Amino acid sequence: MSDGTRVTVAAAIRDAAQRLSQTSGTARLDAELLMAQALGSSRSDLLLRHMRDTAPGAFEALISRRAANEPVAYILGVQEFYGREFMVTPDVLIPRADSESVVQAALEAAPEPRRVLDCGTGSGALLLTLLAERSDARGVGIDSSPAALEVARRNAVALGVTQRAQMLEKDWTKAGWADAFGTFDLIIANPPYVEVDADLSPDVRAYEPPQALFSGPEGLDDYRILIPQLPQLLTETGVAVLEIGHMQAASVMKIASEQGFAADVRVDLAGRDRAIVLRLKLG
Ligand code: GLN
Repeated sequence: MSDGTRVTVAAAIRDAAQRLSQTSGTARLDAELLMAQALGSSRSDLLLRHMRDTAPGAFEALISRRAANEPVAYILGVQEFYGREFMVTPDVLIPRADSESVVQAALEAAPEPRRVLDCGTGSGALLLTLLAERSDARGVGIDSSPAALEVARRNAVALGVTQRAQMLEKDWTKAGWADAFGTFDLIIANPPYVEVDADLSPDVRAYEPPQALFSGPEGLDDYRILIPQLPQLLTETGVAVLEIGHMQAASVMKIASEQGFAADVRVDLAGRDRAIVLRLKLG
């Protein structure tokens, strides 16, 4: 490209996919998405219409970022989740397909939620998806990061649910954070649950917010803090659905049962343990 030779979109994508294959498991897809971005087009339009066009100069800079392990979602500034587009910045965890099974579990456990609390809302993906799916529901998203809350608020605007969504700066490790919150019939959370010395891919470790990922030596610190606070935040028949690491079901169930909860495990699309559903044992 630098010598002025005309390089087609098709050839540029092929070269970029080759280069990214060293570090990305989705090299071709990444290259197509970044080319669509450089062209200001959608991926489907790119494939249908632009393959013989001259590759835009802006493509190279995007590929260099991806080659340095920056996640595609941060380069594009958006991530699809449960069929909707969410704005993401490095201040929030990128919503993952795994977490769609948390939404699914929540909708099964609480088919008509009225008041929803999302602990550690980040981009707002979990809460805002539930509000978009259930027009009678209202919700509160809390996060300790003001920058994350700003992203969540913008996503609430984009999804047209601002009237039903409140985003509040709260830190569940601080006493009194939930004073005057009342009770909720559904509480959801994707808390940090990664062991501090876990072997994470460079995409995650170098780019995603550590405070959304890490939770002590076993990844359990936040469950130990949060779960004992749930009984006072739930209605008597309320339900809490928490995302878990796929090896954590037994440990989190134990913490939950010590707090008087009955717990069930839900799996993700890969069949791995991904969420626990908690209900207070009555009587
Ligand atoms: N699923 C994420 C990961 O493995 C972790 C999310 C979290 O800690 N809540 O990167």
